Amino acid sequence: MRPLRLFALIALTLSIPLPSRPQPTTKTSSHKRQPIAADLVHRSAIVIDTHADTPQRMLDDHYDLTQPLDGGYLNFASAKQGNLGAEFFSIWVEPKLYEGHYARRTLELIDTVLQQAAAHPDKMMMAYSPDDIERAHREHKLAALMGIEGGHSIEDSLGLLRDDYRLGVRYMTLTWSNSNNWADSSGDADDPTVHHTQDGLTDFGKDVVYEMNRLGMMVDISHVSDKTFYRAVITSRAPVFASHSSARALTNVPRNMTDDMLRAVARSGGPNSHGGVVQVNFYSGFISDAWAQAWKAQAPERKAGEDAQIAQWKSEGKTITYAMTDALDKQWAAKIPRPPLSALIDHIDHIAKVAGIDHVGLGSDFDGIPSSPEGIDSAADLPKITAALIERGYSPEDCHKILGANFLRFFRDVQATAKELQAQSGERPKITDQQPFRK
Ligand SMILES: [Zn+2]
Repeated sequence: MRPLRLFALIALTLSIPLPSRPQPTTKTSSHKRQPIAADLVHRSAIVIDTHADTPQRMLDDHYDLTQPLDGGYLNFASAKQGNLGAEFFSIWVEPKLYEGHYARRTLELIDTVLQQAAAHPDKMMMAYSPDDIERAHREHKLAALMGIEGGHSIEDSLGLLRDDYRLGVRYMTLTWSNSNNWADSSGDADDPTVHHTQDGLTDFGKDVVYEMNRLGMMVDISHVSDKTFYRAVITSRAPVFASHSSARALTNVPRNMTDDMLRAVARSGGPNSHGGVVQVNFYSGFISDAWAQAWKAQAPERKAGEDAQIAQWKSEGKTITYAMTDALDKQWAAKIPRPPLSALIDHIDHIAKVAGIDHVGLGSDFDGIPSSPEGIDSAADLPKITAALIERGYSPEDCHKILGANFLRFFRDVQATAKELQAQSGERPKITDQQPFRK
């Protein structure tokens, strides 16, 4: 137990205020129903969210985190109110829109996050390690980290992977919804027109995982196909994690993880590993079967409506951005009733029971999802999750694990593995530096 944690627990027992972030100015009705303890538990945690798609807003719409949310989920005000300590900003390159320019778009997205931190040194600092996250917490700043979502970003080059690490990227999701030349996605695993690997990862794909292990870049298995998941787990020498995935036993969609996968993440890594973490996605379509089915049933009508709108924008000479299509999705999603907050808590609870309390955390997917459960409208609402967990009997210590401590432990394990591998460099000769052309 770290001294800060011990102090937090003593403070809880004695009901004295903690030297933490300012209390929110407004109390919601749920605060009135909850004993004060839940709020104290939340305020005394290092809260870490491992997935937000805000960089596209920053780059395409010049969105600044000092601005009002304006339909988004994350800005400085909401982060402060929700006691959000660290956010992983997603570096996501839309594969069709940027075909032929993946690396360029990747670099621009990385730049936009670095620029945001440079513009607001009093509110936000770039973080590259667990120690940095703790330092930012002590300085009452938002720790900003970066994760690449989709292996197509590295354009089949280990050199680019290393460059991304040098620029501060600390995790990579092996695929997004598109399979790439070396790993398969759950998004097109059943599509016969898409080329897939034989075993889930090609030889180059295994080299990518190994190089990530050596660098200390976390291996993220959200989005990958089941086959690629198992291949990545047995290939990786460090524990792996899911930056934003929920439980398939509760909501049966390919993006979610089966109970067997949850247990495999918990057990992943070498003999000295404490295992990986599954960071729960807040998306209504991943936490509620009813919502997912309604969204699917709406698909033909939605597609026709969206295609017509996009055609109209194009005829007006407008450049179609992610923000524009995202806004359209949100309009359609709003026609379907949001699931209750308890649906999200059910997923956290399920993963905690199946994988273990040390293997679950938060991966909101803020600014990347068209719908979230009732009550979760922005990062400001994160304390409601803690309140709901307390209500279900989770201890303050367990809440702290879920809110960020589990992820910090996992991040440290990945770094420790990297140090070991760097010390024995040359032990595993790489098969290739570049993915060979398959055609
Ligand atoms: Zn995603």
